[in-house]
Amino acid sequence: MHGDTLLDVVDRLTIEHPYRAVIDGRTRWVRRDPLIRQLREAIASSLTGGNGLASSQSGVPFDTDAMEQYDILERIILDNLLAVAPDRVPALTPEENLRTWYTLFHAASDDEGEKIYRLAFAAWEAKIEAKLTPPVVLELIDMKTRRPFECPECGMGWFEKILNSGPNGRGGRWYDREKRVALTAMYRPDGNGGLERSAVECGCCGWHVTGTDIRGFAWDLEEAAVAS
Ligand SMILES: [Zn+2]
Repeated sequence: MHGDTLLDVVDRLTIEHPYRAVIDGRTRWVRRDPLIRQLREAIASSLTGGNGLASSQSGVPFDTDAMEQYDILERIILDNLLAVAPDRVPALTPEENLRTWYTLFHAASDDEGEKIYRLAFAAWEAKIEAKLTPPVVLELIDMKTRRPFECPECGMGWFEKILNSGPNGRGGRWYDREKRVALTAMYRPDGNGGLERSAVECGCCGWHVTGTDIRGFAWDLEEAAVAS
């Protein structure tokens, strides 16, 4: 977010903080748990089959990538802490270690140093947000003709996604395929990030647009719908 300090980012990662949420279509400020804790709990509940954040919202199970990212972040925080306090015995959670690191680092750093770490931890914040709130995915279908819009790059309206595959015992392979709409639009349901964190992409050829380029694409779609 604009005007953030390193401490703002560290706060959102490590302590309960105010958050602008969209509830029943209205924007409200709520208190939200620290992001690192939310990520840890989402991973834990997905491992135990509990009703975690991710599964209840989207049906997307927590991936091994989330676990790897958590481990990497925990390691980075620990390394940072030991760099400023080599003799310190680390606390149990990365949240505590990050806060301790910030206090020691802030006392000795300049603006440039703060900026480097602000950007680095803001990138982690965005990564965790992305894991916690998977984007809404819309299939782009012309409501008038009920046919999918065609990709401006490859011209396809559909593609086949191979979900699974294995040897068929006769020297070949079997494939579990699913027919999908080629063009999809993704956006964040919480309204945070706006166009910058939205995207339109083609599952067939990989063409995609993000950010304000989406406006131009949306215009082309409307024209195509009118013409059809
Ligand atoms: Zn395409």
